[in-house]
Amino acid sequence: MRNNLDRQLSTVRNLGILAHVDAGKTTVTERILYATGTTHKRGEVHDGTTVTDFDPQERDRGITIFAAAVSCEWAGHRINLIDTPGHVDFADEVERSLRVLDGAVAVFDAVAGVEPQSESVWRQADRHGVPRIAFVNKLDRVGADLDTAVASIRDRLHPVPLVVHLPIGAEDGFTGVVDLLRMRALTWSDGSDAAVEDDVPDDLLAEALRRRRLLEETVAERHPAALEEFCDRETLSAGTLAAALRDLTRTGDGVVVLCGSAYRNRGVEPLLDAVVAYLPSPLDVPPVRGVSGAAGGVPGGEERTADPSAPFAALAFKVTATATGRLTHLRVYSGTIGKGDAVWDSGAGRTERIGRILRVQADRHAGLERAVAGDIVAVVGLKSARAGSTLSAPDAPVVLEPPGVATPVVSVA
Ligand code: GDP
Repeated sequence: MRNNLDRQLSTVRNLGILAHVDAGKTTVTERILYATGTTHKRGEVHDGTTVTDFDPQERDRGITIFAAAVSCEWAGHRINLIDTPGHVDFADEVERSLRVLDGAVAVFDAVAGVEPQSESVWRQADRHGVPRIAFVNKLDRVGADLDTAVASIRDRLHPVPLVVHLPIGAEDGFTGVVDLLRMRALTWSDGSDAAVEDDVPDDLLAEALRRRRLLEETVAERHPAALEEFCDRETLSAGTLAAALRDLTRTGDGVVVLCGSAYRNRGVEPLLDAVVAYLPSPLDVPPVRGVSGAAGGVPGGEERTADPSAPFAALAFKVTATATGRLTHLRVYSGTIGKGDAVWDSGAGRTERIGRILRVQADRHAGLERAVAGDIVAVVGLKSARAGSTLSAPDAPVVLEPPGVATPVVSVA
């Protein structure tokens, strides 16, 4: 049983998309939902039909104000997408979303490179230890340049960039990428969503080989197993490279960089493949710490791991009013809950009952029997829970303490 649950959990990715306003976060989100078959009609930001921006105020203002969680599937994995606001006025919401993520995609504009808000969100993600991959978007724009954007990421944010794509064509002629891991060309034609895979074009081969070599050297310098293989064979196999990229991403010792144009639907499938391959599952992240909700609890004295059979503990990260009712969006850290179960709400200091449990899938909600550790779900029926409340088993009450943030001690009445 435990093995089955672990297997399921290892295929979950709790993902956030971080960006400066206008870098293309909404468009990337939209294209992800489309590519994963979650939506069938492609929403356009400019006509106000995007799925994640469903709040009317948000549509009016044309910026992403409220974080919404949407679940989709890719390559046998469940990706819970937590939209984080890019606008600087909503830093608290970004902070709260970062607490419930296991990994993130940072979206950059290929013309503007790193912008002030991308910098502040990046630093917040650093503080929360969120592993990231970078997607350099808008490669189709006039003046777009991957190398300049990567230099700006390196110079201003200081990660070790691990660039796995070489663009094919530039600006309006940007048609695809060379995947430097598999040394294959992926191209997209207008009006078609699926990539066509082919040999690397002759005129790009020397440059692709040079960049592959650079990637191997950068990885080998930072990864002991890769270094051993590199010393033995003077090269790295795609398998070793991929495993090392995964390790370096998860430890924060490197950031995989991909590129594309979300607007033209180029590069979104490779981005999803990278999310699945490199970013961690709930099993791969450190346990969350907290303080016992019972009187006399010691800050940091409680630890909750992604174990479905442990006492229940979850963090409410957003509350939304919808036609279905008041939805409390939860990140479950440990244990399992079912409909009708009682939970202790740290914010209100009282016990409530769970109503329906839902998985939010774009504009639809699917009913669930239970929610288990590692998952992100929405619950109907909680009257007092607020964003930031911990919900936990009444006989094992806990107030979760995010890294670096002091948690007030709340006693159970
Ligand atoms: P957000 O503020 O980060 O959510 O950015 P949006 O997704 O709303 O995108 C901002 C603007 O950039 C919109 O007008 C998009 O249509 C446009 N945009 C998004 N991705 C691309 C792209 O790949 N290429 C181009 N040329 N424009 C894009």
